[in-house]
Amino acid sequence: MSFRRFRSTPKTLGDVNVVTEELKNLYYKRLLPIERHYSFHHFHSPSYEDADFDNKPMVLVMGQYSTGKTTFIRYLIEQDFAGSRVGPEPTTDCFTALMYGEDEQTIPGNALTMDPKKPFRNLDPFGNSFLNRFQCVQMPNQLLESISIIDTPGILTAAKRKLSRGYDFPTVLRWFAERVDRIILLFDAHKLEFSDELTRAFGALCGHEDKLRVVLNKADRVDSQQLVRVYGSLMWSLGKVFRTPEILRVYIGSFWSEPRQMCDHYHLIELEEEDLLADIRNLPRNAAVRKLNDLVKRARLVRAHAHIISYLKQEMPTIFCKESKKHNLIYELPLIFTKIQQQHRVPAGDFPDCTKMQEKLLGQDFSKFKTLKSSLMASLDKLLTNDIANLVPLLQQQEQMKKSLPSVLDGEFLGTFRREQFREDPFKDIPKDEESSDAEFDEWIVEKYKPKYDEIFNNLSPHDGKLSGPKVKKWMTSTLLPNSVLAHIWRLSDVDGDGMLDNDEFALAVHLIEGKLEGYWLPKELPSHLVPPSKRLSTASDASE
Ligand code: MG
Ligand code: CA
Repeated sequence: MSFRRFRSTPKTLGDVNVVTEELKNLYYKRLLPIERHYSFHHFHSPSYEDADFDNKPMVLVMGQYSTGKTTFIRYLIEQDFAGSRVGPEPTTDCFTALMYGEDEQTIPGNALTMDPKKPFRNLDPFGNSFLNRFQCVQMPNQLLESISIIDTPGILTAAKRKLSRGYDFPTVLRWFAERVDRIILLFDAHKLEFSDELTRAFGALCGHEDKLRVVLNKADRVDSQQLVRVYGSLMWSLGKVFRTPEILRVYIGSFWSEPRQMCDHYHLIELEEEDLLADIRNLPRNAAVRKLNDLVKRARLVRAHAHIISYLKQEMPTIFCKESKKHNLIYELPLIFTKIQQQHRVPAGDFPDCTKMQEKLLGQDFSKFKTLKSSLMASLDKLLTNDIANLVPLLQQQEQMKKSLPSVLDGEFLGTFRREQFREDPFKDIPKDEESSDAEFDEWIVEKYKPKYDEIFNNLSPHDGKLSGPKVKKWMTSTLLPNSVLAHIWRLSDVDGDGMLDNDEFALAVHLIEGKLEGYWLPKELPSHLVPPSKRLSTASDASE
């Protein structure tokens, strides 16, 4: 078999997820009762469910229109997906969750909130206007076996602001930000701008700076001097928005469906992209740490919230002037925050946004609030001091175990993105037995269909027995495979690397395309048995140099 079926290697980290199970227990036992008691879900965030703990690492991709979000995702997963039409206008104005599934299908938002296996059940409160703009695309894609990706609607630029979304966009973003492992924020180096909606979206990310990776995309379209300027102004703008701008990592990238343009910082872009992809590759390994981190963040917010609610309750008169007292309390909320911080030694950073809290409190009946329940608070303190600390050794142990396993994403993922690297070591991952019989290959599987392929080859009018890159590209594009896939096929097929395809190389290219169209996964390096016999000798001598 010339290709590997992507289903052949099911990978789960389930066996080693002791920490996740323990986190789940702690949440249900210690945190959830307090959240319920003080109506935390109404004010801040719906409760966690099993799926929030069990799901695969998720990557949220966001940015303004035409910064290359969808293209970036296609680059990651190497294929098109339903709703991936790319365009500068509001094309993807959906939230699209890309997840692994044996059968390709699109599940609409309303149905998604019913599925207990998916981590989207509590998106329900955002209502129909949001759910109509939310979908899940399932595909048998290899990368999606290890991580899920969320594509988001383009953030509106100033000029398009009049379009109303019909749902609270920043709040939805925050819901995702709380639950994902990575947030990739794309900017266009060629056209950097900061709109109001973007600034509001940043508000939703506050407190999750550790998950954020900023990509200055399309960096090959500007010269080095422009790039330095754009980089500087991006850092300055981000510094105004985020509390801890120093921890933000900004990558220079060029995730294009178009071939990358030659520029002074070409090599820098390559290194930066490798770094970013390595970061994404490591997500499954770091997932438990992320979950622990988020549970601690949440527990601290719950503690601050419990103090706020119980303080308000305690200040309310039992019979008279309830309404006017309530308004006074809301007005004095900033002061109350400070009081609680001092009295209960709760760090200011644990508190929610005061203005938002005031808005939410307006519609509440304060007399129904609960007073401070010391047993619940003691349980919460125990969670933050002992329980979490006890998990750390377990976590370290688990990390060790995972490190000894092969990374779930090494392999195709790595190979596809190391653009030139496979040339240096063309037989790297081939199993021993194949390697040893390398020299005695008698059959070239492509030979069987060669007359058919030769006919196409000749119709494209080759020059001196070879077809140039642009000619082949034009023909390849007609297959409608994504450019990133075609580029990979080109790299595999141009065996001698002369930038042209002779009839053998071309036949190989068509063979790979047919395989890909039939649903096979492309090999990351050309297996030796696929190397055209006419090229075998030269490749061998190259390798021995
Ligand atoms: Mg898009
Ligand atoms: Ca060639």
